[in-house]
Amino acid sequence: MSTKTLVKRAAWVLTMDPSIGDLADCDVLIEDGVIAAVAPGLSVPDAEVLDGTDRIVVPGFIDTHRHLWQTAMRNIAADWTLSQYLVGVLGALAPVYRPEDVYAGNLLGALEALDHGITTILDWSHCAIMTPEHTDAAVAALDESGMRAVYAYGNGAPIWFDGDSHADWSDLRRLNDSTLPGDGRITLAAALRGPDFGTVDRSVDDWATARELGVPITVHIGVAGFADRPVAQLAERGILGPDTTYVHCSRLHDDELAMIADSGGTASVATEVEMHMGHGYPPTGRLVTAGVRPSLSVDVCTGIGGDMFTAMRATLAMQRALDNDAIIRAGGKPETLSITARDVLEFATIEGARALKLEHCTGSITPGKEADLLLIRTDRLNMLPVNNPVASVALAANTSNIDTILVGGRMVKREGVLTGADTKLVRQLAESSRDYLVAHTDGACLGGTWQPSGSW
Ligand SMILES: [Zn+2]
Repeated sequence: MSTKTLVKRAAWVLTMDPSIGDLADCDVLIEDGVIAAVAPGLSVPDAEVLDGTDRIVVPGFIDTHRHLWQTAMRNIAADWTLSQYLVGVLGALAPVYRPEDVYAGNLLGALEALDHGITTILDWSHCAIMTPEHTDAAVAALDESGMRAVYAYGNGAPIWFDGDSHADWSDLRRLNDSTLPGDGRITLAAALRGPDFGTVDRSVDDWATARELGVPITVHIGVAGFADRPVAQLAERGILGPDTTYVHCSRLHDDELAMIADSGGTASVATEVEMHMGHGYPPTGRLVTAGVRPSLSVDVCTGIGGDMFTAMRATLAMQRALDNDAIIRAGGKPETLSITARDVLEFATIEGARALKLEHCTGSITPGKEADLLLIRTDRLNMLPVNNPVASVALAANTSNIDTILVGGRMVKREGVLTGADTKLVRQLAESSRDYLVAHTDGACLGGTWQPSGSW
């Protein structure tokens, strides 16, 4: 017998599907985990009913680039430059990680993201030591979290320290040949060095391997101080393609952004981290102008917080500041805005699904897709009154407003509480991992005084 859930009389359903639009006083029917209908006044006598009164329903958020393994070292890099982060996190801490540390970081980070309404995440996994035990620990934690996840395998330290070394993809092959846990919730990607961290010859090899395995590609690219015209270098070798998500893109030239657009590639902007750490200005507006609507990412919780409301607001504010500043400097007065609240809500949902090649199953409230949904409360002071539901979600809401979360129709948060997480155990695992990592890393200490020195 099929299971049916009916979200009844939601104040608004923001489908993020342009053919359906935003619907007031609307129902959403879920059958066997799949969205079956989106319409007002549905009558389904045998369904479990979720009251949608004073709730806005949106698709679950999608974070297209986060290094979950680092989560137990939260905020350790709060006041570090990018160079200090590379020395301190990748150079000093990462080689100390045991499989249980990767597990603890991934479990904490995945549950945190889920608690914040991120129902799908790409775990960019490139801890220094990546034995099969490390990768299995990472994947197990993603599975246990209950969220939808793309596990992007990124090799271990040797390739990140020697840009001309050959990557070892045997473990990605092993995963690709095996049945992953999660009944289809977990898929794979290849996290590549690209020209920012390796030679272009090695990029050619790495792209070829990913394509042979048939997995999507994610790559950091266009970060200040790294490669010169990296996308142009890849284009010269003919390897750009629609299977690749370009992360950051901050210092790419406009013609390189056009090359990404022409190849059908996608982008992930980590606005906050790019502003904090010296990547260069987030390229949101330039990407949109070039024809690439970006997705959003948190990147590292060693630096910043991990929720998508902040990512949306930072992205919108940053782009408007840039646009307005250019007009003011030219002696003008801002008369229009290039990016809207709806744009950033799309970046956080449907564009994330497109970047992760999961558009067929998530990213919008469309019949036939998996029911990855959030019910956001509007009866709190910070949301009252609702005059523009898209802006209510993108600009007014915070994580405390998330009432209910479904992943594939399964209730993972209800009345503001995660249903399947042993948060006491997660805390214990994370704190004991943190203590081990700090004790075994030269120079590391807590309290905000650790300042790594040296260069990457
Ligand atoms: Zn990153």
